[in-house]
Amino acid sequence: MDIKQEILSLKDELIGLRRDFHMYPETRFDLPRTSKKVADYLRNLGLEVKEGVGKSGVVGLLRGNENGKTVMLRADMDALPIDEANDVPYKSRVKGKMHACGHDGHTAMLLVAAKVLSEHKDQIKGNVKFVFQPSEEYPPGGAKPMIEDGVMENPHVDGAFGIHLWTPLKTGTIGTRPGALMAAADKFDLKFTGKGGHGAYPHLSVDPIVAASQFVTSVQSIVSREVSPLDSAVITVGKFSSGDVFNVIPENAVLFGTVRTLKEETRSKVRKRIEEIARGIGAAFRVKCEFNYENGYPVLINDESMVELVRKAGKETVGAGNVLEVEPSMGGEDMAYYLQKAKGAFYFVGASNEKKGITAPHHSPYFDIDEDALPIGVEMHVRTVLLFLS
Ligand SMILES: [Zn+2]
Ligand SMILES: [Zn+2]
Repeated sequence: MDIKQEILSLKDELIGLRRDFHMYPETRFDLPRTSKKVADYLRNLGLEVKEGVGKSGVVGLLRGNENGKTVMLRADMDALPIDEANDVPYKSRVKGKMHACGHDGHTAMLLVAAKVLSEHKDQIKGNVKFVFQPSEEYPPGGAKPMIEDGVMENPHVDGAFGIHLWTPLKTGTIGTRPGALMAAADKFDLKFTGKGGHGAYPHLSVDPIVAASQFVTSVQSIVSREVSPLDSAVITVGKFSSGDVFNVIPENAVLFGTVRTLKEETRSKVRKRIEEIARGIGAAFRVKCEFNYENGYPVLINDESMVELVRKAGKETVGAGNVLEVEPSMGGEDMAYYLQKAKGAFYFVGASNEKKGITAPHHSPYFDIDEDALPIGVEMHVRTVLLFLS
């Protein structure tokens, strides 16, 4: 089959689907419109469809004509709580919600890939599972409940692949790497409680702001002094709340932060050290310390042989020179959970286009994708399946 030509003939439908999802974004697990549209589309193709997997996920199963392995393709369906700032005909019709990460494109690409593969059922030796996942943007995420609902079994998944449309890369390129591609993304919160009082008499109070400030600067020394310079870690305090007026020492200070790491051992070391520093500063500054740390998505690890397969698919789709080895991203992705259960690979499909003015970063209210990237994503899905099952 001439895959490229066949997909290009479906480009209008593909863009139409993407724009429809874009105009009616839904968030977290609350995706009634999106999941219904996905399920109806898959049913029309004649696939076995399961709804309500992991609360609101949808799974379509294509059984090929011959028995063989089972490969899973995953798309996330959720949008973000952002007001769209773009002035485009397909602008979000829902106030306060926007597809600002490209998941509208992921959903559309996987539907059209399901269509193309269904039309070539006779050439498929094995099964293809199309997994449409809710709530990627909001940890603990939708992948875990889908796995708990058995998405990796019946039939057992032998290989898993997922795409992220990616505006840091230009349309016409594919990027991935073996090993860690995306970071473990954890969060912590900390409350220091001192003793409030008059700003002019600090010796009669216990100041939680001074203690909390010490904490913010001290934890950075974990990254610079305790993690190898050749390894990576990020500690960001994103919220620091304390005090009401300029001349009063408040009772407490509350901090919220995120930790990103690329190795499990670094992750547990950083976690341990942040807590020790918080408690140590609490003791040194005479403030009561309440500390919570929550593990989020784990490190996303790509299997080397599966990355090779993606590269091969990439060469056939965009040419060898456009298949790039990218650096790991410190962003998190719950695709990581599927890749703990089955070998596979996650990869980026370039989606920015300077000439069209499509350059905004992910999660920006100006985010958009170059729709010319969509057929490339479909072709990558189709080719990875054919290569994996052959
Ligand atoms: Zn995102
Ligand atoms: Zn995303």
